[in-house]
Parts: sequence; structure tokens; C-alpha cells
Amino acid sequence: MMIFRLIIFVAVVSLLVVAYRKLTAPGKKPSAPTDAATMKKCEHCGVHLPESEACREGDKYFCSAEHRKAYLEHHDSSE
Ligand SMILES: [Zn+2]
Repeated sequence: MMIFRLIIFVAVVSLLVVAYRKLTAPGKKPSAPTDAATMKKCEHCGVHLPESEACREGDKYFCSAEHRKAYLEHHDSSE
């Protein structure tokens, strides 16, 4: 009957190890809600930059206020 105890013991330890690994898994984190990964393209010069650093005009993004101004001068909106 020792063999059954051994099997149960191994099974319990395996479950504990799996549960522990799931709790402490360092691999996959849920996608962080930072906008650092969101890259936007400057409509004027085409450079890519993080959304947090971009100048926004409507649904368009620019690398700088100068390029936003330059773009708007060339692309007059009818507003
Ligand atoms: Zn630009």
C-alpha cells in the first residue's frame, strides 16, 4: 500500500508546483495599459514617435507643434 501513498504524494506535490508556478509566473504579464507601445506617425515628416509625445490635431499626429502647423497650412480644413 506504500505505492499508493507515494503516487498521491507525487500528485499533490505536482499540483502544488503547477499552482505555484501559475501564481508566480514571471513570463507573461497582462498587457500594460501604458501608451508607450502606441507609436504614431507624424503626418508631416513621417517620423514615428510615442503617442504620449505626439502633438495631436483631430485624428492626426505630429512630431512637433511646428510640423502640426506646417501640415495645417498645407492642408486647410474647411472648418
Ligand atoms: Zn514631423
